Amino acid sequence: MNCIDLILKLEAEHSLTLPEYRFLLDSRTPEDEAFAKEKAVLLRKRIYGSAVFVRGLIEVSNICKNNCFYCGIRRANAKADRYRLTADQILECADEGYSLGFRTFVLQGGEDPLFTDEVLCDIIKRIKLRYPDCAVTLSMGERSRESYAALKQAGADRYLLRHETANRAHYEKLHPKEMSFDHRMGCLQTLRELGYQVGAGFMVGSPYQTNAELAEDLKFIETFKPDMCGIGPFIPHADTPFADRPAGTVKDTCFLLSLIRLIHPPVLLPSTTALGTIHPQGRELGILAGANVVMPNLSPVSVRKKYELYDNKICTGEESAQCRGCLEARMRSVGYEIVTDRGDIKK
Ligand code: SAH
Repeated sequence: MNCIDLILKLEAEHSLTLPEYRFLLDSRTPEDEAFAKEKAVLLRKRIYGSAVFVRGLIEVSNICKNNCFYCGIRRANAKADRYRLTADQILECADEGYSLGFRTFVLQGGEDPLFTDEVLCDIIKRIKLRYPDCAVTLSMGERSRESYAALKQAGADRYLLRHETANRAHYEKLHPKEMSFDHRMGCLQTLRELGYQVGAGFMVGSPYQTNAELAEDLKFIETFKPDMCGIGPFIPHADTPFADRPAGTVKDTCFLLSLIRLIHPPVLLPSTTALGTIHPQGRELGILAGANVVMPNLSPVSVRKKYELYDNKICTGEESAQCRGCLEARMRSVGYEIVTDRGDIKK
């Protein structure tokens, strides 16, 4: 085996065996990474040109019943200053977002028990009524089939639920006993069956992760073919059990972005805020590796610092318009254009 041949095979067949993914991750040189990037960018350009899609991220609550070891808003973090946006506040964020050219709103939050189906359905319906040309994406964690069905019925179009890791033993090292790998994976299946456009994803460089686990993540992306795939570096948060663990790297994240583009060419692939946090040009580098989505923050500035999943998160001080303008300039600086569009996957 050699890496260039494997990258060419991936470009042609969009599939490798698990040992081949493993070999590629273990053995690639900087030249191989550059080659994968070039192929990924060509593929992305063929499908999406130089357009970059934007999603307005509204962080609706940092109250969470879960205790994921990596996450800054875990239940056990007594230092987190908890908040929950009201329906009216969320609608105001959407109003501002719409006027700034956003046509997708992502409602993300912890698993806050007060965001019942009734509350969420009402918010979704109000957004869709006011902005029928916009997509609503939810990223509110694991819920029941009935709940996902009700939210879909209310008008939700997409659901983001990172699988976090496709390896069961690794999943169990990142989460407390009461959380279940099977349940999380089952949720992704359910969401797909219900007709959502589904997003999966994982952290790069999370504790205990090796290339063996990453190879399984790539195999999972290859077989599940999510419409979206959110990947970003793991970044430690001081008030979590993983406070002293090293962060993932730009290099690994960018290589994985390129591979995911080759595995599933039309996939919607965000260049994440986490990537922008570990490197001043992280989001530009992500786009240059094959990503095609950015997700500026639309949350009220008063809560942004409180939605702290990891340390030193960027863009917590600026107004939404500034965030949008800043990203527009960043994308332009590397030859890409943010477009006013729902940004659906091109099948
Ligand atoms: N409660 C929702 C939203 C979670 S936050 C859910 O369960 O899906 C969105 C994503 O942030 C998570 O899926 C996780 O992959 C990522 N994340 C959490 N803590 C992180 C950290 N310390 N570093 C990097 N990413 C993190």
